Amino acid sequence: MNTRTPLIAGNWKMYKTNAEAVETAGRLVELVAGTSDVDIMITPVFTAIDPVCTVVKGSRVGLGAQNLYWEKEGAYTGEISADMLVSAGCQYVIIGHSERRQYFGETDETVNKKIGAAITANLIPVFCIGETEAERESGNTFSVLDKQVKDGLKEKVVEDIGSLVIAYEPVWAIGTGKTATSDQAQETHKYIRSLIDGVFGTALADSVRILYGGSVKPANVAELMAMPDIDGALVGGASLDAESFSRIVKF
Ligand code: PEP
Repeated sequence: MNTRTPLIAGNWKMYKTNAEAVETAGRLVELVAGTSDVDIMITPVFTAIDPVCTVVKGSRVGLGAQNLYWEKEGAYTGEISADMLVSAGCQYVIIGHSERRQYFGETDETVNKKIGAAITANLIPVFCIGETEAERESGNTFSVLDKQVKDGLKEKVVEDIGSLVIAYEPVWAIGTGKTATSDQAQETHKYIRSLIDGVFGTALADSVRILYGGSVKPANVAELMAMPDIDGALVGGASLDAESFSRIVKF
């Protein structure tokens, strides 16, 4: 039995106007009001963070962003810093999501800088890693994860990495309806924890929360959460509806 508090995190991606985000967040706050022993986080688009913050303040629902830029401020048109996210009410930030790696040129090096910036600003980074279908089929899953973890967390990023959350998201399972079996996910989570143990030691390996992401739904969450090294879920599609996300929260 471990002492890690489960985290159920919603990635809202580029969905919802401000009015829609406020409505969904408000409904979620009501639906999860009686829950305990689980941390909950939603990540609206940047422009909806402030109005959603007003709705979730003081509730069971935590707030995060989907990305940041590592510099504190400056002439970086279109970017947002960690301190700006904190000032808008965020406690969490997703970093290195596969869609950012695939469409926006995110690399292990930029991920490393972003994780450092998040931790320095006291944001909890949700550090995403995962293999593609081709990488899994060619037997390279563990070597891909090894590189992503070691390069993403290179130089220890900063001394205090204790708040780190890792999200293992096999790319072939994101938005596809295909889910890794609970045994496949457990095997990979156990491997990721052993990597953390090798690089940072047992204390961090025991405390780091490793979420599973990839077509998590109310119907499959319980089986995944029953695994000893699965500490939560990063949920895309099924987090957009307050009713279905609340059922995942209550796994
Ligand atoms: C995600 O976007 O991180 C994700 C896992 O999406 P989905 O749940 O829709 O597969």
